[in-house]
Amino acid sequence: MKLPRVIRGYCPYCNKHRDLEIERVKTRPRSELRKGQRRFRRVTSGYGGFPRPKPEGREKPTKRVYLRYRCKECKKAHQRPGIRAKKFELVEVHA
Ligand SMILES: [Zn+2]
Repeated sequence: MKLPRVIRGYCPYCNKHRDLEIERVKTRPRSELRKGQRRFRRVTSGYGGFPRPKPEGREKPTKRVYLRYRCKECKKAHQRPGIRAKKFELVEVHA
């Protein structure tokens, strides 16, 4: 899937359609201080080990791509539900 680097879309801060710059959201290393990570550490520690069965079966053919949309006017960014795609590319569009 290819998307232009800049799209015209709704900005919830301006409450209007604006030029939005698309940024890819990178996965950050999990912080040990996060609630979910603390719960994971607590639940996997000690006897009993890993709480969930290992995922079995085939790998999913597509991955979810997370994007951040930054408004050019107010410089604020919002996110939308991720898009599933096999391949993802941001392309420069020259009008
Ligand atoms: Zn805006």
